[in-house]
Amino acid sequence: SNDVIQCVGCGVEIQTENPAELGYAPKSALEKEKVICQRCFKLKHYNEVQDVSLTDDDFLKILNELGNTDSLIVKVVDIFDFNGSWLPGLHRFVGKNPILLIGNKVDLLPKSVKSNKLIQWMKHEAKELGLKPIDVKLVSASKGIAIQEAVDAIETYRNGKDVFVVGCTNVGKSTFINRIIKEVAGEEDIITTSHFPGTTLDMIEIPLDDGQALIDTPGIINHHQMAHFVDKTDLKVITPKKEIKPRIFQLNEEQTLFFGGLGRFDFLSGGRKSFTCYLANELNIHRTKLENADELYRKHAGEMLQPPKKDEMEGFPELVRHEFSIKEEKMDIVFSGLGWVTINEPGVRVAAHVPKGVQVLLRKSLI
Ligand code: GDP
Repeated sequence: SNDVIQCVGCGVEIQTENPAELGYAPKSALEKEKVICQRCFKLKHYNEVQDVSLTDDDFLKILNELGNTDSLIVKVVDIFDFNGSWLPGLHRFVGKNPILLIGNKVDLLPKSVKSNKLIQWMKHEAKELGLKPIDVKLVSASKGIAIQEAVDAIETYRNGKDVFVVGCTNVGKSTFINRIIKEVAGEEDIITTSHFPGTTLDMIEIPLDDGQALIDTPGIINHHQMAHFVDKTDLKVITPKKEIKPRIFQLNEEQTLFFGGLGRFDFLSGGRKSFTCYLANELNIHRTKLENADELYRKHAGEMLQPPKKDEMEGFPELVRHEFSIKEEKMDIVFSGLGWVTINEPGVRVAAHVPKGVQVLLRKSLI
């Protein structure tokens, strides 16, 4: 029959096509009398949270609800995609609730990067974007670095209230929550779900000592994230997995570096200078002459210059050029979702090219 199959756990409509979306269950699960979605399955059997993405509409509803709560909001961002993983407008919705900003994936930073400089920069950027966090902490959810500090900060700032964890997809929010579950509760079966008015999705609640709860909200897809312009295998190439090894280039004027086919850095003028690239170790950097760069991209994007792969090029946004005149020493050009290039000396003009919609910005070096 054509009857809609619903998950016995959360009631969501079951689908078997897209594992990343709401209601997914493997085809084999349909043979059972009671069908349970993969998300509920993991929750039930492993006390494990799996992120699902939401439509923008549903996310807006959740944001609206957050404003009506009396809580601490924990916002998780990816430090390699700070601007791409930002949730625009959050500050307008949270009302008077304090926001604790968590920068995840600190394990990827080279040793030379000073975490206090990164924290200062995050505070500054947050303020520019209209948000004044009560504090900023850096963690590695996957490596378990500074999780206890984050838990302590949550405990301090929540002041007996509920905690809502928000973040867009890919920032590592589920990994972070799963770490916290282990810290807070060990292996006990402690997670429950509760319904948020007006949304299709239940929130996942982790009880805290004093009867309050830590609540995981679904991740929102931020359409400007570099991560959404490439497929899963390419995402592996551009997402650093290990501590980044800085790659130094001595460039002459009018030389260009391609970062696969995802980004491009032109050294326009300023003599002979050195530039340090902080990108995933697996991402290929190709050097060429500025005068050949446009044609090289036209001919070889998707092949020699990849990711993205050839079959992804059609849906891939065009690269947009942003020019910068660098007047101070040690400045970073940040390619959101890819990494950054440190310009060691002042007095240079450069251009950065990124897919339309992706952010580029200039900041003081973190070294
Ligand atoms: P979510 O969509 O925000 O829930 O993100 P996930 O928890 O699914 O993580 C997204 C990706 O980031 C996965 O490939 C994780 O392995 C990776 N990841 C999560 N936390 C960390 C971290 O602390 N360091 C590194 N290097 N990778 C992480």
